[in-house]
Amino acid sequence: MTNYGIHLWSNGDFFIEEGFVKINYKSKPSLYEITQKIRDTGIRGPILLRFPHLIRKQIDSLFSEFNRAIKTFNYKGKFQAVFPLKVNQFPNFVTSLVDIGKQYNYGLEAGSKAELIIAMAFNNKNAPITVNGFKDKSMISLGFIARKMGFDTTLTIEGLNELENIIEAAKEYKDPIPNIGLRIRLHSSGIGIWAKSGGINSKFGLTSTELLEAVELLRKNSLLDKFTMIHFHIGSQIGEINPVKKALREAGNIYAELKKMGAKNLNNINLGGGLAVEYSQHENIHNRNYTLTEFTNDVVFLLKEIAVQKNVEEPNIFTESGRFIAASHAVLIAPVLELFSQEYTEKGLKLKKKNPPLVQELYDLYKSINPSNAIEYFHDSLDHMESLLTLFDLGYIDLQDRSNTEILVHLIIKKAIELTKDKDRYELKRIQDRVQERYLLNFSLFQSLPDFWGLKQRFPVMPLNKLDQNPTRSASLWDITCDSDGEIDFNIDYPLFLHDVDLSKEEYFLAFFLVGAYQEILGMKHNLFTHPTEVTVVFDEHGYKLENIVESQTILDILYDMDYDINEIQSRLKQYIAKSGCKNKEKILENLHLLLHENNYLKISPKKVAT
Ligand code: PLP
Repeated sequence: MTNYGIHLWSNGDFFIEEGFVKINYKSKPSLYEITQKIRDTGIRGPILLRFPHLIRKQIDSLFSEFNRAIKTFNYKGKFQAVFPLKVNQFPNFVTSLVDIGKQYNYGLEAGSKAELIIAMAFNNKNAPITVNGFKDKSMISLGFIARKMGFDTTLTIEGLNELENIIEAAKEYKDPIPNIGLRIRLHSSGIGIWAKSGGINSKFGLTSTELLEAVELLRKNSLLDKFTMIHFHIGSQIGEINPVKKALREAGNIYAELKKMGAKNLNNINLGGGLAVEYSQHENIHNRNYTLTEFTNDVVFLLKEIAVQKNVEEPNIFTESGRFIAASHAVLIAPVLELFSQEYTEKGLKLKKKNPPLVQELYDLYKSINPSNAIEYFHDSLDHMESLLTLFDLGYIDLQDRSNTEILVHLIIKKAIELTKDKDRYELKRIQDRVQERYLLNFSLFQSLPDFWGLKQRFPVMPLNKLDQNPTRSASLWDITCDSDGEIDFNIDYPLFLHDVDLSKEEYFLAFFLVGAYQEILGMKHNLFTHPTEVTVVFDEHGYKLENIVESQTILDILYDMDYDINEIQSRLKQYIAKSGCKNKEKILENLHLLLHENNYLKISPKKVAT
């Protein structure tokens, strides 16, 4: 039995009981029960479950840990935070987040005009809005409009030309003028696959020379009192604490220097994001070498130390953590459609009266395999298969013999695994490494786990049930796209073992955890598989409710989004049916209509058990 590393990645949010993975909150339902409830409404395909109580947990811990550290070190600045919308802009996430964040005056960060509009429409009234990213005049105008609406808005400059546009806009819009932040280009950078945002060659931020120029420009245009924040971001998922400390020392000193140059209203250091999440489900691999407590202690302590040393005010600490806040709130459930070796059943075996000797031998191996000879017979069967396939290529055996070979070898492998599972772990592992089961999942890897496709980032995965039984199959996971990259292959460094289930008798689902950050919006519509059906699970004193159910897009909606004229499509299809010689045209049209209004994922239900 394995617990799929739940103690490593779940942060106590999920636990295993009586063979099921359950939510560690209030009535503690199992994910299996929730999934079945949703499927009982007829929904098929992948399901993305959102848990707002986990958004709350992350926001609470971010604020409480920073405030604890502030108290511990008797720090004079305050802690404030915004959520970077780029991490998840989906309405059912954002509206929950904003609602939960109200008590902390938690704000939003926008990196584009569309994100800024979301921030302006949904942010809590007095909460901050920070505007990052490259900006044209229209984006700057939107920032001024946000300020006029009463939002505490800070426009963070990525380059000097943006500052010139702000100076122009200030003349046009006049007071109230948004606050101005300067993004600094640190020579410190993060490490890991998302570390490119920091360092001297990074795409973003002002060099020291540009910083000096920016301050001069602000002073000349009487805007220096609007300069309130410096900002840096050394990359996402910073797995080690050292680069964070290095960046803080650099930024802290820049802050102090700028203060001394007369930036009297500069009182915020914005650390950007980067707070890492533990994705690993394997004991020997860690994605993060620090805790939130260590992180907050280091930030507060280092900034205090620099401020005291340089005799400047202790700045307010501002963060834009996204991954840390959003990752845990979403769980993707993918139904298993097929185990490929299940094609190989005894029923399919069509032995002849006289079989080629090696096929006959395979059959004898299968019939006489037992715990003491299992490994030997397993090895023999693989050897025989090699020879039989060569014989087929040379034309000595026919397709029926080849099919019997494949079935017998798979039956022997299954028996060998079964017979050795309590006995010979080492040999069992060797079998598993060589012979994997392929699990076909009703989801798109490109749509739902794009970071695995693009960056090989792994997400914790486990079945929803059978967690009190030993998983015996080394698993590779296949999605339903017509693309061989849609696979999470079995990797000996990150081994995944699953159960040998008979899908004609029972359903089997896999859950991917920590998918709430970046995955939804980066997801690609490869083969036109779109966002999975999403459901928000809200807990109350009576149990839980399933809310905001948004089914995955229908085929017509997908085509509409692609700018097809769906009326034209439908009328073409109708005409083809009308002109065809087929009978029951009415019925066919009716069926077609229903099919066009279904979602694009496979609508496969478990086969009924024959009674
Ligand atoms: N702030 C900025 C400027 C970013 O570019 C990013 C993402 O890379 C973030 C915040 C969020 O980072 P994370 O999700 O690692 O907290």
